Amino acid sequence: MSKLNVHLASHYGMCFGVRDALAATRSTYNESDVTVLGQLVHNPVVSQELTENGVKKGDLNNPTTGIGGTVIITAHGASESDRSRWSSTQSKVLDTTCPLVHKAHKSLVSLVDSGFFPVVIGKKGHAEVNGLVGDFPQAIVIEGDEDIFEVPYEGKIGIVSQTTQPIERVNELVEKIRSTRNACEVKFIDTVCAPTKNRQKAVKDLSKFCDLIVVVGGSNSNNTAQLVSKVEGLGCRAVQVERPEDLIFDWFIGAKDVGVTAGTSTLEETVTSVSERIKAISDEMALKDRECLGKERILC
Ligand code: SF4
Repeated sequence: MSKLNVHLASHYGMCFGVRDALAATRSTYNESDVTVLGQLVHNPVVSQELTENGVKKGDLNNPTTGIGGTVIITAHGASESDRSRWSSTQSKVLDTTCPLVHKAHKSLVSLVDSGFFPVVIGKKGHAEVNGLVGDFPQAIVIEGDEDIFEVPYEGKIGIVSQTTQPIERVNELVEKIRSTRNACEVKFIDTVCAPTKNRQKAVKDLSKFCDLIVVVGGSNSNNTAQLVSKVEGLGCRAVQVERPEDLIFDWFIGAKDVGVTAGTSTLEETVTSVSERIKAISDEMALKDRECLGKERILC
């Protein structure tokens, strides 16, 4: 058996929004009292690093956490009401909201200001989605087809999306809303971010010729899960790992081309070590093959 061909996606891994939020948080390591309001990134490797450097985890909805110290609003953002509640405490607020999440907030505000009923396509309960709808108690979150019935049947409907949703799925849901709300004016502002679109497109390209795609990212990361489901939806095999130690030898038996991609909260060094482990597995497989061939010759 020949060695595995390992292909890295043309776009993968940590996006600028998460990278900048992480850099801002790392710059606080020497401060005595730092609390992240929620999960900075959905990645266990990074979470462990923060804990080891004394960064505490707090609750965005509980403005008594971290009083007196520095509190960090994550790249996922927050509602204006949450932001101003924290600003009125004694804590110093470090806001690491990604500019593209800010853009999604502004888009929703502009729709509501123009008289549109707010609808957000995204994962219910996700920090970014909670932040988007936090200032609009009337807003509806659409996670799947079953939620569409909640959208009003008349008036003006304004839709934005969580930044990390697959754009094809978002467009599909928007079209379903349009086609079932003939009496409504439906306006959609595309707020899926470019890094998400690039990573989804790159993994689609890999799925065309790979036998298996390894997706590196936290098991609690929404965009990592979206990459896995994209690959599976295209009929290709996908496995998700957080670290090289999670890779299983048997996954690669019978494979020839293996793709590697990573979610937007995955560190570059984790992707590199996973790719190196796959290459080591490939060497082990080739060695086993040579040993088997040798045994066959002796038997003949
Ligand atoms: S996934 Fe997109 S919106 Fe979210 S932090 Fe990264 S660049 Fe910003």
